[in-house]
Amino acid sequence: MQIPNTLGKALAHIPQGYRFIEGWGMVSGSHSRTVRPETVEQLQAVMRACQAEGVLITLRGSGCSYGDASHTESLPDKPTLVLDLTGLNKILGFERYADSSDGKPAGYANVQGGVTFGQLWKHILPQGHWPRVVPGTMEPTLAGAASMNVHGKNNFMVGAIGSNIRELDLVQPNGELITLKPTDELFGAVIGGMGLLGCITRLEMRTQPVNSGNVAVRGISATSVGDMMESMSDHEDEAYYSVGWVDCFSRGKAQGRGLIHLARHLDPGEDSEPDKTCALSYQQLPGSILGFPKNEVWRPLRILNRDLGMRNLNRLKHWMGKREEKKGEYLQSHAGFNFLLDFVPNWKFAYGRKHGMGLLQYQPFLPDDTAQGVFEELLRLCQKRGFVSYLGVLKRHRPDDFLLTHALDGWSLAMDFKVTPKNRGRLLDLCNEMTEIVLVGEGRFYFAKDLVLGPGAMRQAFDERAVQKFLAHKQELDPDCLMQSDQYRRVLEPYNAPVDLPLTHY
Ligand SMILES: Cc1cc2nc3c(=O)[nH]c(=O)nc-3n(C[C@H](O)[C@H](O)[C@H](O)COP(=O)(O)OP(=O)(O)OC[C@H]3O[C@@H](n4cnc5c(N)ncnc54)[C@H](O)[C@@H]3O)c2cc1C
Repeated sequence: MQIPNTLGKALAHIPQGYRFIEGWGMVSGSHSRTVRPETVEQLQAVMRACQAEGVLITLRGSGCSYGDASHTESLPDKPTLVLDLTGLNKILGFERYADSSDGKPAGYANVQGGVTFGQLWKHILPQGHWPRVVPGTMEPTLAGAASMNVHGKNNFMVGAIGSNIRELDLVQPNGELITLKPTDELFGAVIGGMGLLGCITRLEMRTQPVNSGNVAVRGISATSVGDMMESMSDHEDEAYYSVGWVDCFSRGKAQGRGLIHLARHLDPGEDSEPDKTCALSYQQLPGSILGFPKNEVWRPLRILNRDLGMRNLNRLKHWMGKREEKKGEYLQSHAGFNFLLDFVPNWKFAYGRKHGMGLLQYQPFLPDDTAQGVFEELLRLCQKRGFVSYLGVLKRHRPDDFLLTHALDGWSLAMDFKVTPKNRGRLLDLCNEMTEIVLVGEGRFYFAKDLVLGPGAMRQAFDERAVQKFLAHKQELDPDCLMQSDQYRRVLEPYNAPVDLPLTHY
């Protein structure tokens, strides 16, 4: 449905357009009217006008969520608008404390919500700090990350991003701005709240002092997924970061074999030239890979990106992992270690750029006591169904109290599947089967990656009281339910329907 003309006054002087907006995995998307406010006042004017005219709003940061979290289809009975928040991208301040609230040295960055991880680390690293929590790419905005409560390779150590925010500003659906602190009940709903309660315009985030622009990394080869989990647990106290790459093609006793990367920050004095290593020039990711300009590397990757190529690549990686283990500790820049995926821009295009093709990531979170059994079962099932994940990533997590949190005392295994028009139906059936297994193991799911969860699985996987609390906050702040997304309509809107709800929905 068309946006009413009366909204025009609020939109005058604000950049806007009409374009195709898709999830990062390229599997879902819609044409949408977009507006990109550049000041908080512009944003408030748009929110007020949308409320007056009954226009549905979908918030969007950098669009790095794999599924349908930040896009919306057009609806027959309601006009819809996507608010692109990347224009609110100013770093407002950065302070360093020798002694913060928990007695440890820390920094706090005060930033607008559209600031990206890339902008943040480039601002603070030359001053000897690094963001406490970063995802595997530097592209997301900090508000988009807070709305999904993103985690890094150090989730077990410092929690997810929400646990490292000490204050945020929220523009509510009625246009009013409020400031929230972790002690406010609403804070616990906004973090991980999928952009459904209002728009985060400013955050104060904790940063980590570092003595070097490098981290010390160590590879440990693992013979199976069980071995990997045991080894990661054994090294939990000594590592600041810990992540496992899993070869999802491996079978039998070697099922889930792979390579663990542990990393630690350097001690004072270990780096004799910290100014040099913390300089941005030192952190640059290489401009070319094996002689290819890095922007073009996805093209040859496309040839490899099928079962045979990926089976061999995983095998090679396992073999190289054994050699890496022998090498012992080595140094790697913060950017190189944390943003490995950014080494190859647009690598996702290797999954296909034609309509109906793309990448679906399935990332279940399992409690410590069921995780190994469930992961083994999932890996076996995928092989049996002829869908092997080309990349498997294992992480250790810790719980938090945010209402819609995916975090728990346990593990997650992220699996990437290639989607084609031909395999799509079968792949979604497989996701359904996997979801049943995860639910038996009392697992949870992560909305930043999800595209297949149905409201039935949501009911089973998440704490009922927490979800009802979240919905009560939504009812209070957004009584006309204007803040929506395709993901909201898929997972949460039907949540209270008095019928049996599907485990998956597509
Ligand atoms: C290659 C790659 C690697 C990744 N690695 C990790 C990882 O290691 N760990 C991890 O946790 N995640 C990871 N992610 C997922 C990513 O960090 C999250 O999806 C993140 O939320 C994306 O932020 P964004 O700015 O792109 O927001 P979008 O994807 O555009 O939006 C995310 C959500 O935030 C809402 N939103 C956006 N802006 C605002 C705002 N200003 N106020 C309120 N709500 C808002 C949207 O409505 C949506 O619900 C990865 C993604 C990619 C593509």
